[in-house]
Amino acid sequence: MICTVCKNDFKGVVNQTICSDCLKRRSQRGKKIKTPNTITTNLFTNPSNNITVQISSGISWLWVFLFGPIYWAIKGVWTHVVASFCLAIVTFGISIFIYPFFTYSILRKHYINKGWEPAE
Ligand SMILES: [Zn+2]
Repeated sequence: MICTVCKNDFKGVVNQTICSDCLKRRSQRGKKIKTPNTITTNLFTNPSNNITVQISSGISWLWVFLFGPIYWAIKGVWTHVVASFCLAIVTFGISIFIYPFFTYSILRKHYINKGWEPAE
């Protein structure tokens, strides 16, 4: 039998048109890779109690802009408490205008690192 995808000869069951290698590759492609960049949901589930929470709102970026390190401290993202504070000093405050753009990816990464599961 000849695989219709890779054109290689393969042994399969009757009427099989795709070799098992291509089938495997196909099913892997179907799975969404969950990284902070591919996830768009702000709903995350805590695996220890199965409670789903909204980790950010439509105006979370504004809180980051206005309160910077204080916002990260409330959220418990301690690396960004330090990072946003230091960057603001080093860049003479310019980073305050840039940080809001990263609000959502930072929050998603934070919850993924804590072991929480994206709810969608
Ligand atoms: Zn194939």
